[in-house]
Amino acid sequence: FPPEKIRNFSIIAHIDHGKSTLADRLLELTGTISKSADNKQILDKLQVERERGITVKAQTASMVYQAKDGERYLLNLIDTPGHVDFSYEVSRSLSACDGVVLIVDANQGVQAQTVANFYLAFSKNLVIIPVLNKIDLKHARPDVVTEQLHGLFEIPSESVLRISAKMGIGIDDVLEAVVSRIPHPTGNRDLVTRALIFDSWYDRYKGVALLVAVVDGHLRLSQNITIAQSGKSYETKEIGVLHPDPTPLRTLYAGQVGYLYCNMRSIKEASVGGTIHPTNATVEILAGFKKAKPMVYAGVYPMDQSEHPMLRSALEKLLLNDSSVESKVESSAALGHGWRLGFLGVLHMDVFNQRLEQEYGAQVVLTAPNVPVKAKIFGAKNIKAYGGEIVTVNNPANLPDPVMIEEMSEPFVIGTIITPDVFLGEIMSLCMDRRGVQRDSRNIDSERIMMTFKLPLNEIVVDFYDKLKSITSGYASFDYEELGYEPSNLTIMDILLNGDLIPEMTSIVHVTKAKERGKAICARLKETIPRHQFQIAIQAAVGSRIIAREDIKALRKDVAAKLYGGDRTRRDKLLKRQSEGKKRMKMIGRIEMPRETFIKVLER
Ligand code: GDP
Ligand code: MG
Repeated sequence: FPPEKIRNFSIIAHIDHGKSTLADRLLELTGTISKSADNKQILDKLQVERERGITVKAQTASMVYQAKDGERYLLNLIDTPGHVDFSYEVSRSLSACDGVVLIVDANQGVQAQTVANFYLAFSKNLVIIPVLNKIDLKHARPDVVTEQLHGLFEIPSESVLRISAKMGIGIDDVLEAVVSRIPHPTGNRDLVTRALIFDSWYDRYKGVALLVAVVDGHLRLSQNITIAQSGKSYETKEIGVLHPDPTPLRTLYAGQVGYLYCNMRSIKEASVGGTIHPTNATVEILAGFKKAKPMVYAGVYPMDQSEHPMLRSALEKLLLNDSSVESKVESSAALGHGWRLGFLGVLHMDVFNQRLEQEYGAQVVLTAPNVPVKAKIFGAKNIKAYGGEIVTVNNPANLPDPVMIEEMSEPFVIGTIITPDVFLGEIMSLCMDRRGVQRDSRNIDSERIMMTFKLPLNEIVVDFYDKLKSITSGYASFDYEELGYEPSNLTIMDILLNGDLIPEMTSIVHVTKAKERGKAICARLKETIPRHQFQIAIQAAVGSRIIAREDIKALRKDVAAKLYGGDRTRRDKLLKRQSEGKKRMKMIGRIEMPRETFIKVLER
C-alpha cells in the first residue's frame, strides 16, 4: 500500500456513545474479524476495560477496505481511551492520526467529553468526521444533536453522518468518509527512516513491545536502529501490524502503523514520544509528547510486607504499560515500604489499582488520594535549604516547616458540566460547596445547558463526579481541564492521640474545610482504634488550635477480668496472638495502633 492508499484515524467519543461497538462493526465489515458474539469489543483487551466498559489503553487495528471507487485501502484504526483521566493517551494516539471519527449519541447529545475531545482533535488540525450513533433508539433526536454540533463547533449539518453501530446501519458511510475526507499520511518512503514511538507494553515472553508510526522511509526486519533521545541501539527482531492480532511482516513503510520488538528488556528504555532512526544516520527528531503531569497522588503498599518484591515487579511492568504514572519509593513507620504514585486523576488511580490486582494478583493498600500543593518559602537561608523558592509537595508529610512558608497554592481546573436545565440549582450549590466559582453558562438546546466553573482540583478528586451523577440521576456529564496553581488559604491539619502526633495522618486542607474534615477523621479513628486500659483523646489540630475531638473510653478492668478469667488455654492463646500482633503495631505514645487501623483510616 502506497501512502495515498493509507488512512490513519481514530474514533473519539464520550463514554458509552458507542466507540467500541463501531470499532467492532468496522472490523467486521472489512472482514478483519468474523461476525460472532465472542468478538464483542475486540479492542478492549483488558479485563478492567470489559468490566468497566471503558477503554483504558489505546489499541490499534489495521484493516483492508475495498472502497466504492474500486480501490483497496489500508485503514489503521487507533483506538483511544474516552475518559478525561486518560486524555494524555488520547493526545498521544491522535499524534499518529490524520483524522478522527467523532461519535455522538443521538439520544444523549453532546456531553462534556465530546467537547473536550472535539477541541483536542481540532487543536491538532485533524479532519473531524461527525457521526450520530444510536439512531435506532426510540428517543433519538438526531436533528437536535446536529443543531448542537453546529451551534457549539460550527460543524455544517450536511457533513454529519447518522448511524446505528449496534444494528449495523450506515457503517459503510463511515468507511467511505474515512477514505474520502481524511488525508493520507504525507511521509516520504525515499527519505531516511524516522518512526515515532507512541505506545509501549510489556510482553511476558518477548519483552518490550513498541507501537510505532513510520513517518519517513521504512523499518525492516533485522535492521539496526537507534532511539534518538536515548542514543541506545537495537536490532529489530519482529515487526508487524495488529490485524488486530499481531501479524509479522518484513517491512513497515512510511504511513504505516505497527508494532516492533527489538530485545528491549528494561522497561525504562521504551521512551514513548521518542524517534527511531537507522543506526549511524542523523535525522531531525520528531515532535514528541508533553509529559503527562500527575495530579492525584496516593501511597501504595503491599497488604503484607512479605509481598513487597512481588508488588515491585508487578508495578514495574504496569508502569511500562502506563507511562503517565509517576512512581517514587516511600516508607511509613505504620505501613512499611511502599511507593507514592502519581496519577492523572481518580479514575486513572482506580483502574491502575484494579489492573495490579487482576493482571498481577497483587494485594495492595491504597491510601486516600491528595493533590500536590506548592509552598513558597521565604528567607534566603530557608530557600537555600529547600533548594528553591517554590517547593512542590506531593505528600503532606513532606511539607516544609510551616514557619518558613510564605504562601501556599493549589491546582485549579476549569470544569465543564453539561446538564438538563432542571438541575441547575442543585449543581450550583454543589459547585459552591466545593469552592467553585461560575465562569460561564449557555444553552446548547432548548433544555440543556453547558456551564463552566473554576474549581480547586482537591475538591473534585474524591466524590464530586459521584455527587453530580446522583443529584442529576446520571443526566449530567463532567470534564475538566487544568488551569494551573493559584494561591489558596491552605493550612496543615494534624491528628493527635493523647497529645502525640500521628505523622501519617497529617493533611493539607483549606481553612474553610478544616473543621469538617477534622471531625470526619476523628470519628473514623474512634471507630477503628481498639479500646485501651486508659481513655484516649483523639484530636484534630490546626497549629495549636484543637478543631475537633473524640474520646475512646477506657476498658473497665472487671470486664476484662471476666472475659479472660477461668479458661487458661484460651487466655494463653489470646496472649500469644496479641504478642504476634504487636510486631505489626505502631506505638503512638502509649497507644497501640495495629497496622489494620492505619489501613482502615488511611485507605480510601
Ligand atoms: P464506548 O464506551 O464509546 O466504547 O461505547 P460502547 O461501544 O461500549 O457502547 C456503549 C453501549 O451502547 C453498549 O451497551 C452498546 O451496546 C450500546 N450501543 C452502541 N451502539 C449502539 C447503537 O447504535 N444503538 C443502540 N441502541 N445501542 C448502542
Ligand atoms: Mg469502549
